[in-house]
Amino acid sequence: MTERQEHQLKAVVNAGELVTAHADAPKTGEALSDLGIIKGGAVVYRDDTIVAVGPTKEMLAAYKPEQIVDADGRLVMPGFVDPHTHLVHMGSRHEEYECKIAGKSYADLHKVGGIRYTVGMTRAAGEDELYEKALRDLDIMLLYGTTTVEAKSGYGLNKDSELKLLRVAKRLKETHPIELVSTFLGAHTVPEEFKDDKAGYVKLVREMMAEAAPLAEFCDAWCDSLGFSVEECREILNEAKKHGLKLKLHVEQTGWSGGGELAAEMQVASADHLDFLSRAGIEQMHKKGVIGVLLPGVTYHLMEFKKEIAIKDMIDGGLAIALATDYNPGTCRTQSMQAILETACRLYRLNYAQAINAATINAAYALDRGRSHGSLAPGKRADIAIFNCAEHGILINNFGINHVHSVIKSGRMVVENGQLLQASERARAGAGKG
Ligand SMILES: [Zn+2]
Repeated sequence: MTERQEHQLKAVVNAGELVTAHADAPKTGEALSDLGIIKGGAVVYRDDTIVAVGPTKEMLAAYKPEQIVDADGRLVMPGFVDPHTHLVHMGSRHEEYECKIAGKSYADLHKVGGIRYTVGMTRAAGEDELYEKALRDLDIMLLYGTTTVEAKSGYGLNKDSELKLLRVAKRLKETHPIELVSTFLGAHTVPEEFKDDKAGYVKLVREMMAEAAPLAEFCDAWCDSLGFSVEECREILNEAKKHGLKLKLHVEQTGWSGGGELAAEMQVASADHLDFLSRAGIEQMHKKGVIGVLLPGVTYHLMEFKKEIAIKDMIDGGLAIALATDYNPGTCRTQSMQAILETACRLYRLNYAQAINAATINAAYALDRGRSHGSLAPGKRADIAIFNCAEHGILINNFGINHVHSVIKSGRMVVENGQLLQASERARAGAGKG
């Protein structure tokens, strides 16, 4: 690209609906049902930043873009932000899943393999192998309209392997068009070799922090009776804080353990899962501005259709909710945020707007990027998804297909007409390195 092209004024025009999803704070309560739609809207941007948003006629009268993408009546939205994935791992657990279909619970499966199976595969894999697999997953995410993705370590569970995963994430971040946010999750579960010495493993996680911190932005821990206690998570997060890491937590997934309350106490950016979040947890998280990340794909994939998750209480209680895939080989194997929106509306009865805001602006806040990402407004990142339907409702109502037409990441077209452009060119070039 020449320098002149790089600084050209560009625009996406003639949106059927331009969903801005904009707000200056995480959306809660009634605001969560407001998408800030401009019918026939346009987005004007230069380099990676949005310059203006408004009706197409007004935008073309005020600006003279040198490059125009005609959305031709299609739905235009911010690219999805996926704030919770376990992107870097090896192996598949599709066979285990068939056992689950036959009626075993996650707790049973955890005893016979679960995370530990993936840990074995991931420890054995080389960095290039892990990089190539994650690259293919990122390509799929991009093709499905996701422009920012969080990626956790946590299938290494020893110093060498955890650092290996964080180095792979760093390489992906430097090469793939998707913006990658790296999280250290050494406290994902207790590895086999520490099964009689949990305190020893917590100590090891703390010791890993100094070398993990330069490679990651966040530290996360699984606060659960199958994972780590409130006290252990507090200890780990306090250590992470000392090393300048921002904080996240997996909480109240398989039962209540007080993780919601801990999330508020530690003022983490987000607390994720929330299946058994208490009223006190909702209140305290709301008070401390913690984003609650819901993972409906897990509910669906584990077939917990009768589980009563207090979604309405969370929204009525003013909690800012976000949505994520939790992409991982065990409990939710999908790279598609479109699938997550569809599932959230059907299982959690979110309305269309709530689901879309939760997957864009609020998801950006869950990654401490709400001021720069997740909505279409002047000054924000030009991350734009164009869909093959005219209205946002169709995106969710017509389920099980990929609606993406085009994706613009940081002002650059990376998916056009459903095809990856040079999206992975740099990434492939980087594949030989390291
Ligand atoms: Zn997770």
